[in-house]
Amino acid sequence: MTAPTTPTTTRRDPEVLSALAAEGARELGADASADDVAAWAARTFPGSLAVACSMQDAVVPAVVARHAPGVDVLFLDTGYHFAETHGTRDRVAAELDVRVVDVRPTLSVTQQDIRYGPRLHERDPAACCRMRKVDPLRAALGGYECWVTGVRREEGPTRADTPLVQWDQQFGLVKVNPLAAWTVDELVGYAAEHQVPVNLLLSDGYPSIGCEPCTRRVEPGADPRSGRWAGFAKTECGLHPS
Ligand code: SF4
Repeated sequence: MTAPTTPTTTRRDPEVLSALAAEGARELGADASADDVAAWAARTFPGSLAVACSMQDAVVPAVVARHAPGVDVLFLDTGYHFAETHGTRDRVAAELDVRVVDVRPTLSVTQQDIRYGPRLHERDPAACCRMRKVDPLRAALGGYECWVTGVRREEGPTRADTPLVQWDQQFGLVKVNPLAAWTVDELVGYAAEHQVPVNLLLSDGYPSIGCEPCTRRVEPGADPRSGRWAGFAKTECGLHPS
């Protein structure tokens, strides 16, 4: 399935949505479980909820689907993913009670190469990420009131203060991060216990998986995100500004 997405409700005003985010943060407190956070999002935004998934693992779609069966799962299909990532996407579509939506950039990789020159990711990864990730996600989120991410605080300094519920100023909707407090061991344990699809590269030296040209293996024990955009100061693609 490909974008455009088909949320079933009309988006409420930003003032209403940001007030709901503040109310949810108060109601849930700092220590709510992932299930409690997902349940709050499902009952507050029925039909207008989306889950973003990089297909590194499908834990956050699995958690949300327990409370919002058939929820839309947005996969940013940049044109540069590993075969293993597409394999995970296909397993998620087949095995979870979700609707996977492939969100694609305006330009194909070939069209981008013609317009901006080949391998833009080697020269200007910020521009490449903007065209292939940020702008397509912004367009896809346009009809939803809330998006759910798998961002975890321990993933790095830029994510250390991630709240469970927040107002997303960049995209203009509520952002929910049910796994914010989870460790990687909790994530792996949940996936094993609930037989949730995980990307095969995770057990092959890739603790953080993005586009193939911008992702390298890392040494055991190294910063999990140090294999992303190696050689650049860049550590985030722009979807989750700190
Ligand atoms: Fe482009 Fe690399 Fe960003 Fe993927 S991760 S969109 S290839 S710069």
